[in-house]
Amino acid sequence: MSERLLPVAMTTLVTTDLIGVTRGRSFPTDELAHYQTAGCGWVPANSALTPQDIIASRNPWGAYGDLRLIPDMSSRVTVGNGPHASAPALDFIHADICETDGRPWGACPRTLLRNEVERYQTELGLQVNAAFEHEFNLACGDAEHLAFSLEAQRQGAEFGGWLLSALRAGGVEPEMFLPEYGKHQYEITCRPALGVAAADRAVNVREITREIARQMGLGLSFAPKTAEHAVCNGVHLHVSLQNMAGQPMFYDAGTTNGLSTVGQHWAAGVLHYLPALCALTAPTPVSYERLQPHHWSASYACLGQRNREAALRICPTVSVGGKSVAEQYNLEFRAMDATASPHLAMAAVLIAGRLGIEQRLALNAITDEVPDSLNEEQRQARGIVALPASLTQALECLRQNEALVEALPTALLDTYFALKTEELTLTEQLSPAHLCEHYARLY
Ligand code: GLU
Ligand code: MG
Repeated sequence: MSERLLPVAMTTLVTTDLIGVTRGRSFPTDELAHYQTAGCGWVPANSALTPQDIIASRNPWGAYGDLRLIPDMSSRVTVGNGPHASAPALDFIHADICETDGRPWGACPRTLLRNEVERYQTELGLQVNAAFEHEFNLACGDAEHLAFSLEAQRQGAEFGGWLLSALRAGGVEPEMFLPEYGKHQYEITCRPALGVAAADRAVNVREITREIARQMGLGLSFAPKTAEHAVCNGVHLHVSLQNMAGQPMFYDAGTTNGLSTVGQHWAAGVLHYLPALCALTAPTPVSYERLQPHHWSASYACLGQRNREAALRICPTVSVGGKSVAEQYNLEFRAMDATASPHLAMAAVLIAGRLGIEQRLALNAITDEVPDSLNEEQRQARGIVALPASLTQALECLRQNEALVEALPTALLDTYFALKTEELTLTEQLSPAHLCEHYARLY
């Protein structure tokens, strides 16, 4: 008599690609040792996939070549089944894309981020501490509850409880699950992590959130704007730098806004390169439906203290209860959304900040007013420039930006420009309303 079969537990090696989509290949978990060192196969042209699932026609790779996904064992995420009792456990490991002989592959965004984090350590003696916060829309019932209300919280409470439990199991260290300003809009925040682990954690938040929604049969979208009049979903990247002993380096109690000299140069670098960075941090046509004045997102390159209309914000710190201000002090990059690759976007922001430190750029673009309410002369006097109004403009800013083009691997940039050009062609006929609906389904 043959035995009744049981499903085989699977582990997946994943890469989160240039458009922020997590992809990979699975094998039986009991064969993990076999895949640990040499990984599994991968295809160069996969990196040229558009969100529309079409490989960009003019990509540098074509049908040629083979790669490996080599797992970083320290990044494994395992989450047992949740609300759906028979759902298979989620078990994946972040991987770096390598050549078949193990050399790093030029267009791997995770490798780019690791290299940049290492540069901070070796050249500047600094460690990067970062956290991504995510907003999303959850279709959990028809009732439209009021912003931030307990009712809205209760409507999402079953989902939120499972989500926090799954995030904890996956090592994500969640902080808060909260109802946001929009209808059916929620936010999830987590504790910071050092270096590459911070971007891995952003992926883990997205994938675990999707997993819980899938198991509960709920629709979910992280897209920057899910309907023409919807409140937008941002991704805010919180960054602080530490010395190698772990002491915070962005804070100086002796300055008016608390920002240290190194923090000022870093912020100046991010603001200086921001119009070009947008091509990587707000990287889809629909991103520009969000990056507009009065959306609490970002529309000008300026730093604000607690100002939610500023692209870069000095976050509030609290001294109540004797908490250390220096340890909380961080800068929040707000010109980002979930159509961006966390690894690529974080690497790009870090490159801009490092260039600011190396070039000792001066920080002038500071305002606590809504930058849109200043007149052009006032903005010019402070060096506050408008962010690109479209992906086309942002890509052009990046193309023209010699420092960033030089800092990013050619293979990665060529692939990126090819796929973004294709994406623009594929979406050019869509009205703003249709763009929102289209990307709401994709992200
Ligand atoms: N929803 C806003 C955004 O698109 C952010 C609101 C907030 O400050 O939490 O970025
Ligand atoms: Mg929020």
